[in-house]
Amino acid sequence: MIEERIQELAKLETEISGKSIKQTMGYDLPYSIDNVKFIAGASRILEGKAMAEYVKEGSSAIRREPIGVVGVITPWNYPLMMVVWRAFPALAVGNSVVVKPASYTPLTTLELAKIVEKAGVPKGVFNVITGPGGVVGEELARNKNVDMIAFTGSTEVGKKLSELASSTLKKVSLELGGKAPFIVFEDADIDAATEGAVVGGLVNNGEDCANSTRYYVQESVKNKFIEVLVRKLRNVRIGNPMDINTDIGPLISNAHRERVEGYIEAGLRQGGKLIEGGKRPKIRGLEKGFFLSPAVIYTENQKSDIVQEEIFGPVFTVLPFSSYDEVIAKSNDVVYGLGASVWTKNIKIALNGVRDLRFGTVWVNEHVPVPSEMPWAGYKQSGHGASLSAYSLEEFTYIKHVYFDLTGKVRKSWYYQIYSAQ
Ligand code: NAP
Repeated sequence: MIEERIQELAKLETEISGKSIKQTMGYDLPYSIDNVKFIAGASRILEGKAMAEYVKEGSSAIRREPIGVVGVITPWNYPLMMVVWRAFPALAVGNSVVVKPASYTPLTTLELAKIVEKAGVPKGVFNVITGPGGVVGEELARNKNVDMIAFTGSTEVGKKLSELASSTLKKVSLELGGKAPFIVFEDADIDAATEGAVVGGLVNNGEDCANSTRYYVQESVKNKFIEVLVRKLRNVRIGNPMDINTDIGPLISNAHRERVEGYIEAGLRQGGKLIEGGKRPKIRGLEKGFFLSPAVIYTENQKSDIVQEEIFGPVFTVLPFSSYDEVIAKSNDVVYGLGASVWTKNIKIALNGVRDLRFGTVWVNEHVPVPSEMPWAGYKQSGHGASLSAYSLEEFTYIKHVYFDLTGKVRKSWYYQIYSAQ
């Protein structure tokens, strides 16, 4: 049913978020549909330990059961997809959900609710409540009738929700911010790396938790990397997101654009050098749009705000490195741990990087893709939930151990602990 309305939903998603129609039509909607199909199928093959005799006198098995009522709180950057990632696995394994969409972007969630209703899901199983996070979201976290919170959003709000949920000790699943390193070793294919860097940094207007944001480039190829990156960025078309020829649209709000600009200023104040962009381009007929041209900043200050904090905008921070150990240490030196990528042709470097990077996803010679079958999960302050894959279904179940006595005896062998041997 989502497929039948794909064009209309993609258009609405672009209208509410500012991301390009090229992306919502070509990626957000088709990918979300694939996610739904995967979740529906995977819910038919839940896993647990086999029923067997783990002790002599009994047989044990695992049941997976729904947790109950799940409060799902979603962000504005992937309004429809985040409902699919969080509410749909919860539904598929038997929970009911109360979804609180982001205040900027509730409309596709409301359309999805209509589709769910039309598909025959009983009333009261999929619910949507719009309203400010500080009111509706906090109530979901506090309310004793809500059994679990699945939150996707900022680390700051994730912490607040964990605190509120502690009054009832309800389960909290958190998918939070990111600060992905993009590590380019000197043997990498610079053309492929810069191509991947542009997309990794700009996908979803640079408002993606997976975006590459810190470009660690080995000294010997640093200048070449920056030169090719800047050349490629100059060809990116900024404009009306409804135009099929637009690559990136406006940011979500003026306040957010000012926040991103604040980071650019801080980066320069803290020793960085602006190489390109970071300006407000004038788009004819859309003078009030919250556009920002992709900024490239070179810095050697690992402690700079633009290296340590999530900016959530089109800002490329380039840093040099000389050795493997140095770059791994710097890459891991943030509170986040969502995604990271390694660009090299050397299998030893790639495999070591995969092991040493403390991130939930590590790409090799690529940045961003996550197949529906694979988990998207954070380390450290990027949270501790899992979206997609079979793990996302496990997230929304309790595991129940069931034990069957096999002896039929009145006094089993271990009862001597109370009934001492006579
Ligand atoms: P946000 O400010 O944390 O808001 C997310 C949701 O939480 C919104 O629905 C918001 O409602 C609500 N909220 C705000 N304050 C709240 C409170 N005190 N109590 C309960 N709920 C509250 O995040 P955002 O700016 O929408 O989204 C961007 C963030 O999401 C980034 O940090 C990004 O990295 C993260 N993200 C992570 C993933 C992932 O998979 N790890 C995916 C996508 C996005 P209102 O809109 O009404 O304020």
